Amino acid sequence: MTQPRTTAELRALDAAHHLHPFSDTKALNDEGSRVIVKAEGVWLTDSEGNRILDGMSGLWCVNVGYGREEIADAVAAQLRELPYYNTFFKTTHVPAIELSAKLAELTPPQFNRVFFTGSGSESNDTVIRLVRRYWDIKEQPEKKVIISRRNAYHGSTVGAANLGGMAPMHAQNVALPGVVHIAQPYFWGEARQGETPEEFGLRTARALETTIDALGEDRIAAFIAEPIQGAGGVIIPPATYWPEIARICRERDILFISDEVICGFGRTGKWFGCETFGTQPDLLVMAKGITSGYLPLGGVMVADRVVDVLLEGGDFNHGYTYSGHPAACAAALANLAIMQREKIVDYVADDAGPYLKAQWSKLAEHPLVGEAPMLGMVGALELTPDKIGRTKFPDVGKVGTLARDFSFRNGLVMRATRDRLIIAPPLVISHGEMDELVARAKKTLDDTYAELK
Ligand code: PLP
Repeated sequence: MTQPRTTAELRALDAAHHLHPFSDTKALNDEGSRVIVKAEGVWLTDSEGNRILDGMSGLWCVNVGYGREEIADAVAAQLRELPYYNTFFKTTHVPAIELSAKLAELTPPQFNRVFFTGSGSESNDTVIRLVRRYWDIKEQPEKKVIISRRNAYHGSTVGAANLGGMAPMHAQNVALPGVVHIAQPYFWGEARQGETPEEFGLRTARALETTIDALGEDRIAAFIAEPIQGAGGVIIPPATYWPEIARICRERDILFISDEVICGFGRTGKWFGCETFGTQPDLLVMAKGITSGYLPLGGVMVADRVVDVLLEGGDFNHGYTYSGHPAACAAALANLAIMQREKIVDYVADDAGPYLKAQWSKLAEHPLVGEAPMLGMVGALELTPDKIGRTKFPDVGKVGTLARDFSFRNGLVMRATRDRLIIAPPLVISHGEMDELVARAKKTLDDTYAELK
């Protein structure tokens, strides 16, 4: 039997052959990447045997936790029965049919049709195609502009990166015409002196209306937003924000797209974030939690009023080889069956969410923390040198990265966006594990604070 490779050997191979996403690969190669070898529940194990609490559900996706045999078995059975077939050219297959029907059941009532993709980015590229197609069929082809928000994340393909409002991504030459970015509802970082959250929420939402007016409603195709801006730092809007956005979308002749790649499938304590915030999207973008990340799959739910138009348009010349991949659909069906059987969405809403929030909020008392927002199973810690004056650290991102590295050493995966730490643990995390998560986050804050002194 060949010996398993050592951590040093694995790191050397990784350094020689792997270009990492969203990484400075050269710097990473000097440091050496952490090799994750297995996982169970909310716990990761690395190649050196360290056990790490995964406070990020992988990349916000492992909603039902790791090690679910039921999903592995469903995928294995599907691979034996029909490992691949496509849904182009008048064919379909059982897992895609079953999953389409299941999604129509779980999503809000206006949704009865899904377009399958392989990821969130592909879903958002699909959205651009669907929106343009819709207005073309309605003989309003000049309606092409999509309004998005600064600091939004909608994916990494060229189309999706354009929809997103991430300055570091735009700096790398992805800008295409046709997307306009407005302010994000980031109260802690962007409110005016003396402004209440309610006033700020209304003012920020109304930027949508003034932008529609400035550009002309006849040019605006759609507005896209994440219910809670995730990668942008877990930006939970003030209570006045979403009702005002919903009003504007209702009154104006534009489509509203809810990017639920993170918020979908229970993260906010309802099946979808739009239900938590009371909005009524025309398109709903999904990925990640649909399979709990066990296999790649994404999709766009299309509301009946949009479907009715699209169905009049003949061929839609768009699709991916892996749209509705049978094994990925089987993984999704098994994942959703677990979520329904174990009532995981109710657990987030009534038990785990309030329990974690009660403890997490106390971290706001730490001298390094400006705010500690949390909703459902997603939260953040804004790190600041001055809680009262709400100032930012001069070298943006440095303290966040320092804290994130401490966190890893303390056995907890948190993510850092600028100087904001983020958590989004698996939805099935137990009370004891939440206690552990908060204790490790607190130690991370103490370590970071000590280092800065
Ligand atoms: N949309 C949102 C809100 C996301 O958070 C992400 C990924 O983090 C995406 C889209 C892109 O998804 P993917 O990485 O599957 O392409």
